[in-house]
Amino acid sequence: MKKIQSAEILCVGTELLLGDIVNTNAAYLSRKLAELGISVYHQSVVGDNPERLKKALFEAAGRCDLIITSGGLGPTYDDLTKETIAEFFGKSLVRNEEVLADITSYFAETGRIMTENNKKQADIPEGALVIKNDYGTAPGVIIEDEEREITAIMLPGPPRELEPMFLYEAMPYLMKRSGSVLVSRNINIFGMGESSVENILRPLMENASNPTIAPYCKEGEVRLRITAKAENSEKAYEMCSEVVEKILSTEVGAAVYGIDTDSIEAELVRRLKESGKTFASAESCTGGLIAKRITDISGSSAVFLGGCVTYANSAKEKLIGVCHDTLEKYGAVSEDVAIQMARGARKALGADIAISTTGIAGPDGGSPEKPVGTVWVGISSEKGDRAVLLRLSPRRERSYIRTLAASNALFLALGEI
Ligand code: ATP
Ligand code: MG
Repeated sequence: MKKIQSAEILCVGTELLLGDIVNTNAAYLSRKLAELGISVYHQSVVGDNPERLKKALFEAAGRCDLIITSGGLGPTYDDLTKETIAEFFGKSLVRNEEVLADITSYFAETGRIMTENNKKQADIPEGALVIKNDYGTAPGVIIEDEEREITAIMLPGPPRELEPMFLYEAMPYLMKRSGSVLVSRNINIFGMGESSVENILRPLMENASNPTIAPYCKEGEVRLRITAKAENSEKAYEMCSEVVEKILSTEVGAAVYGIDTDSIEAELVRRLKESGKTFASAESCTGGLIAKRITDISGSSAVFLGGCVTYANSAKEKLIGVCHDTLEKYGAVSEDVAIQMARGARKALGADIAISTTGIAGPDGGSPEKPVGTVWVGISSEKGDRAVLLRLSPRRERSYIRTLAASNALFLALGEI
């Protein structure tokens, strides 16, 4: 069969047309096909209507190598995708005993009663391949039409069934069909906006087709996903690594905190372990967020000694020895207090590195000198003690300011190892 280069997604379901449900299957499939390097030029939605489905199939078959459908594989009278597509390809439906056995055991395991209707789901177009469904009863189906040089993959509508079936069955099948493998590497960037990253990397990104470079953003972070397609994974990895090196040698390199890592805290725990150093925190405006994020990482107990949530001034004084006079003179949100908090936590817990946060998360509590979003991050390590001022956007909500304050503190801690 011909190599698959272009695909079309055809979602079946009147509820999609009525706006009752959002078409997340199309988004999911498009994303995955892009990862495979298969171009998607059309997505369409048809109701549960065999005539219109046939028409849509006819149009799609004339302009792509692969049609992926979602929905309409269930046992009810309106689920007609399989019948319609089989008819379109001129295939009759044949009861598949293996599939029937799977459906029967699915019903037995889930304690449900199997009806005659459900048996219909074991009818497979002759010569088609079956995709097992571990999360439901409707199997997926792959039809390869040599004459028309077109492949159709039918998947059930519920995303919790469609997604694993695509990921674990259809994707390996499509990779085999395209005669190549895909490998991705991720570059994690902190403290640089997406547009700045894109601006610097535009010459690299504009011409990138293999490997591709795709940016993803989350609060304060940009992740660049580099994906290469090659005949084997070693070659694809090598192609990705070349691009990673190129990106690291640009201005973006300074903002990279990790490669192929999940988060700043995961990278921090990894590097602390590697260096045999321990870590502690003293938090005011982040209220324990740093400790939470560190302890979200399995195995962090080897490096994280503990954290103090010192919200009130009295707690800052009693627990981590912040000077009463300093608090009086400069206020809790100040450089000196941030430094004393970090130093105090480091001493109290006997850690190699400690960080602290003290700031105004809003929406109240700001002043002209210290507007909402003013955060001091204190750092104490064998390299010395210092504090860094963050000016986070006062327009942003409290949770964003707290998250960003914690991320900045974790990022600064990385620099101390
Ligand atoms: P079932 O056996 O559950 O009937 P099916 O393959 O017949 O599976 P549909 O009846 O078309 O699938 O849809 C079942 C449910 O799956 C819908 O009610 C909806 O919740 C979800 N669903 C269907 N299509 C989509 C889609 N394109 N995007 C997101 N969810 C969908
Ligand atoms: Mg259905």
